[in-house]
Amino acid sequence: MEYKIAVIDGDGIGPEVCAAALQVFDAVGKKYRHDFRFEHVLMGGAAIDKTGVPLPKTTVDICKKSNSVLLGAVGGPKWDGLPGHLRPEAGLLGIRKALNLYANIRPAVLLNALKKTCPLRADIRDNGINIIVVRELTGGIYFGKRKTVDKSGGADGDKTYAYDTEKYSVDEIKRIAVKAYEIASKRQKKIISVDKANVLDSSRLWRKTVHELNAEYPDIEVVDMLVDNAAMQLVKNPSQFDVVLTSNMFGDILSDEAAMITGSIGILASASLGGGNLGLYEPIHGSAPDIAGQDKANPVATILSAAMMLGMSFGLDRESAAVEAAVNSVLEKNIRTADIKEAGSTVVGCKEMGTLIAEEILKAH
Ligand code: NAD
Repeated sequence: MEYKIAVIDGDGIGPEVCAAALQVFDAVGKKYRHDFRFEHVLMGGAAIDKTGVPLPKTTVDICKKSNSVLLGAVGGPKWDGLPGHLRPEAGLLGIRKALNLYANIRPAVLLNALKKTCPLRADIRDNGINIIVVRELTGGIYFGKRKTVDKSGGADGDKTYAYDTEKYSVDEIKRIAVKAYEIASKRQKKIISVDKANVLDSSRLWRKTVHELNAEYPDIEVVDMLVDNAAMQLVKNPSQFDVVLTSNMFGDILSDEAAMITGSIGILASASLGGGNLGLYEPIHGSAPDIAGQDKANPVATILSAAMMLGMSFGLDRESAAVEAAVNSVLEKNIRTADIKEAGSTVVGCKEMGTLIAEEILKAH
């Protein structure tokens, strides 16, 4: 079967980590007889340099016609002085909007080989950490009505005030909850839905809607947890979490917290999904200008993002698991990029890490 993948290499280490992920796609294609076709498109600083804008229309058109999109990273000091709408990051927000990607999926998995990078106590981390945060991405307080009313300079002092509004509709809650139910049905069949229902009306509607939907997924257990407790439980007992479903702002904070208890930024993958099968898959790290062009970047986050694409967009669960297994097996041999090296590690560059993981896929039974 043929799969068309739009590749946004982006800036800094973006092209290096994408190249390593494409090697992995090629190995999967060879081993399992799939035909992955890549079309490289411009976004971010690279697009600004060539076309004057961070997200050219042709990029959006090609992404929309593809089966999925792989993104390296965008941005860098070269473009920092530009006005907001012309900066590389505007490309990121633009592509998410253009593809209507309302669900952000962030796994936080403590790989066996990288246990030592976990900042938690050994007795806690040894119970295992394998969490997927399902975060609503296009609603809530980041997109609600906001205003700063300037009342400074009055005779009775500075009475300036500002507000932001958290607003969620039933439909917005339902569509993100459906994603969480679908993901949970392939995993441990448990969702922890995080809200602040003891204070917020929007959270009470969230809770009611999530539970009503439970009737359609009777084999999934849904547990509610207040966000302040969730933040605490993530460090106290992370193994109780499997799928975490939450709103835009709570998810922003909790997904970073969950990610960091699993260690290095160079290994963390993510997906942004909409209604159909098309998704945008990217590492959570940025363009790392400090190491760009030196073959020092860790490509594992991008390779694990590719594994997510195989499973979530193409339904190739066996292939997705094979990529994850290959990553684990290379790391277990203590072969590392410099950012995650330990005592006795064989340190390799970005390109070689990609090659070794690709070879491992071809070798596996
Ligand atoms: P960063 O993630 O690029 O780098 C932070 C630190 O982590 C650096 O020391 C870097 O060398 C290291 N690092 C990151 N990824 C690594 C990898 N794969 N392997 C080894 N080391 C890695 O964050 P930053 O420095 O705050 O941002 C740099 C640029 O990236 C900025 O322009 C920022 O706007 C942009 N950015 C883009 C995205 C994105 O495209 N999604 C996300 C975050 C930041």
